[in-house]
Amino acid sequence: MTTSHYIAGHWVEGQGSDCISVNDPALGQPFAELTAASVSQVDQAVAAARSALPAWKSTSASERAAFLRGFAEQLGHRREALITLQMRNNGKPRHEAEIDLDDAIATFCYYAELAEQLPAKNRTVPLAAPGFTARTRLEPVGVVGLIVPWNFPLVTSAWKLAPALAAGCTVVLKPSEVTPLIEQTYGKIADALGLPAGVLNIVNGKAETGAALSNHNGLDKLSFTGSNSVGSQVMRSASAQCRPVTLELGGKSAIVVFDDCDVDQAVEWIVAGISWNAGQMCSATSRLLVQDGIADALLPRLQAALENLRVGNPLTEEVDMGPLTSQAQWLKVASYFATAREEGLQCLAGGHALDREGWFVSPTLYTDVPKDSRLWTEEIFGPVLCARRFATEEQAIAEANDSRFGLVATVCSADLERAERVADALEVGHVWINSVQAVFVETSWGGTKGSGIGRELGPWGLSAYQSVKHVTRCLG
Ligand code: NAD
Repeated sequence: MTTSHYIAGHWVEGQGSDCISVNDPALGQPFAELTAASVSQVDQAVAAARSALPAWKSTSASERAAFLRGFAEQLGHRREALITLQMRNNGKPRHEAEIDLDDAIATFCYYAELAEQLPAKNRTVPLAAPGFTARTRLEPVGVVGLIVPWNFPLVTSAWKLAPALAAGCTVVLKPSEVTPLIEQTYGKIADALGLPAGVLNIVNGKAETGAALSNHNGLDKLSFTGSNSVGSQVMRSASAQCRPVTLELGGKSAIVVFDDCDVDQAVEWIVAGISWNAGQMCSATSRLLVQDGIADALLPRLQAALENLRVGNPLTEEVDMGPLTSQAQWLKVASYFATAREEGLQCLAGGHALDREGWFVSPTLYTDVPKDSRLWTEEIFGPVLCARRFATEEQAIAEANDSRFGLVATVCSADLERAERVADALEVGHVWINSVQAVFVETSWGGTKGSGIGRELGPWGLSAYQSVKHVTRCLG
């Protein structure tokens, strides 16, 4: 049993009714337990963030930048422990756990730099009309609630926490109940750095705790990453209070492979886009559109590459892919295998759970999947790839865009002019050309259509936590 809530600068026991099991998905067994925060503890966390706000927003941008650099440094000091915890609780292969940690560190460093540039953004605005001056002030939005999922716990929280603190906001963070230990590190770092009490609060819990936070009338903004079903509830709460919300939701992204590609290189990109994090990525490129001229050569090699992936326990084996992170996710993916059988889909690889302890499934490929199949249209969140063939560029663009989601896409082609043209035509927030899942803190993250509202990362990630004020003075 661990003490797991960080409120007003203190670690406290949960007083909620939910008991949370923290599991090792490779064994399918719990290794820690904690009690969720109660609704009144969520109130206390919001109150602590509110009372810390005036002092925190008055700190200089360079003081805040120093704290952010401290977060980056302290993450580095905890490197091995954090990598091991992600392998154990998420089932991430070591190299992926390392990438996540480095991403979180880079995020804190980047927003430290942006914080230092903030004073220069408060500037005089030239007016065409005579007799007045105006100046801009970028102010923090205020007290923000941050609700995150379990698939990239270190990263998703860093993408919200770093810009929120840089802007001068105070924060209540609610990690996922599936991975509640990882973000405790941010509280421990806050302690180690002497971050003023109440600037960062962490409450753990399930839906009840999340809803208590997202419905709370003491917040000035909520930033949510997670599923569309919960996202729409969060948006309803925000709308009831006319309060801003950022939503980073699901995806069903396309990878478009033209027939001028090197087949082996294309196979590498396709496999990475569906097997990293065992396919539990909002940005998984789970719809493969392959051009007629290359399909017959590519699909057998893709089948072999998926079948050759080393799937196992990242803590004890050399693996390319670990288990699914939770039993719920494992059951969900298994239900799609059953649907595929009912729909009579052609399965070229996998299509079943692995016969071993833990929550493993085989990397899976279905081909010639009909456009109205549930496997083509719904986010599965596992290593399940569906393929369709196309003839022309126009057809590829139309099929890629024919989705209620619009998070990312990948375009693979030796013809860079064509690749850029297709990238411009895709209705998504981020396109990779001849690369896969490369995320840089300087670029933006977020989707169109059902994939969400707003952007994280880059300067947009900071402005999500800022409000613009103008002061206009009459000279007369
Ligand atoms: P989820 O929506 O079930 O949970 C997300 C968070 O919301 C968790 O902390 C959960 O406890 C909390 N929550 C649950 N019910 C709530 C309620 N009623 N009110 C408020 N909070 C509540 O999602 P998940 O299963 O943890 O994550 C998977 C989903 O996240 C996928 O759909 C994936 O695409 C999406 N995701 C999106 C991005 C992105 O950047 N667009 C990134 C990662 C994950």
